Amino acid sequence: MSTIAQAVSCVDGYDPEALRVEKAVAAIRSCLAPISETEMVPTRESLGRILAQAIVPAIDVPGHDNSAMDGFAVRSSDLNDETTLKQIGTALAGKPFAGKVGVGECVRIMTGAVMPRGADTVVVQEICRVEGERVAVPARQKSGQNVRAAGEDLKAGVPVMQPGQFLRAAEIGLIASLGIGQVEVKRRLRVAFFSTGDELTSIGTPLKAGQVYDSNRYTLHGMLSRLGVEIFDLGVVRDDPALLEAAFRKAAASADAIITTGGVSVGEADFVRQLMAKLGEVLFWKIAMRPGRPMAFGRIGNAMLFGLPGNPVAVMVTFYQFVRTALQFMSGRTGTEIPLLSAVSSQPIRKVPGRTEYQRGILFDEGGVCKVRVTGQQGSGVLRSMSEANCFIVLEHERGSVQPGEPVRVQPFEGLA
Ligand code: AMP
Ligand code: MG
Repeated sequence: MSTIAQAVSCVDGYDPEALRVEKAVAAIRSCLAPISETEMVPTRESLGRILAQAIVPAIDVPGHDNSAMDGFAVRSSDLNDETTLKQIGTALAGKPFAGKVGVGECVRIMTGAVMPRGADTVVVQEICRVEGERVAVPARQKSGQNVRAAGEDLKAGVPVMQPGQFLRAAEIGLIASLGIGQVEVKRRLRVAFFSTGDELTSIGTPLKAGQVYDSNRYTLHGMLSRLGVEIFDLGVVRDDPALLEAAFRKAAASADAIITTGGVSVGEADFVRQLMAKLGEVLFWKIAMRPGRPMAFGRIGNAMLFGLPGNPVAVMVTFYQFVRTALQFMSGRTGTEIPLLSAVSSQPIRKVPGRTEYQRGILFDEGGVCKVRVTGQQGSGVLRSMSEANCFIVLEHERGSVQPGEPVRVQPFEGLA
């Protein structure tokens, strides 16, 4: 048996004619392997890349105990009721106090300054009374307060990141805090895509009767750009076997993954299916979902193939539910699940059990409660429903219609990081 068929047949409950979303996700995953090639990039340019090395600090961050506040560095053993101490010097960030704090003494200290020897506690300046070099410290200070311990952020020798880590602004900052100027990352995944359909016209050409502008290549370009992959846009390909074959061969020669849109349903003009089947090992699925029922998955040459439906919303939904995580996994990234949150539906939503639905929703706050409503028309050709939405409302396979006030699961489109 061939590799793809073998892998998917191991997925429990695999049924290509009525494939549950979770089974399709599992089937896809079982056929993928992460790329192994890596490259070095400057830390500053590593945003959105995937780490290929572990990050093990060679130093503690911070490197010394230091003050978290502006105030006075004191010895906690000196304090009881109000205590008057003698100020013997100043410690600034980057300019440590060279001496030692003895009994009955204190040092004026600024945020980030190294704790002087002898002192273990910082009293904030606002509550101290200063007269000349005498500093009166009120009662009830806690030993060790307002001091940041050396290594409280990162500890030398304790790994802080593993290969597969996706690098966001915070990770880049952490790496920089260790003084590391270059990191080893996975090479970018190469993804080729094209649209199929005789009715499609590229921007710049006037529309003839019955034609539509190709929007799928633009949504795909946007979604792929967000993933940080290398993009090969192969344009619109007519429903013509020779042209389609040439496009598939070109894509397979250069890319790790190929994404097509259109031509995977069982319509008359869908040459795409036949060609995919001829050029590689390709499975055709009817997925129990809406939108996005037909989908092809397989391999052509060395490239994994994702044959998405043609309808613009179905393209986005199948991309987010199947392709995105698959490409992230192939890129070598770990931790790729899309979090599901809970929100209260503000309205009734019609739904039949037996398929997973991805309705386009708007999350909003009402009196401190996270609520969600649908965007209006939910047709799989209504791309406006995606544009107006800020989340998917995920209505699970077994679920029936939703009553107002019922909790539903949502996938927010945007995060902070
Ligand atoms: P298909 O899956 O090829 O039968 O296409 C399903 C529907 O999606 C048809 O109405 C197509 O016109 C439309 N469609 C297919 N590809 C695109 C595209 N690239 N841009 C906009 N609409 C498309
Ligand atoms: Mg078509």
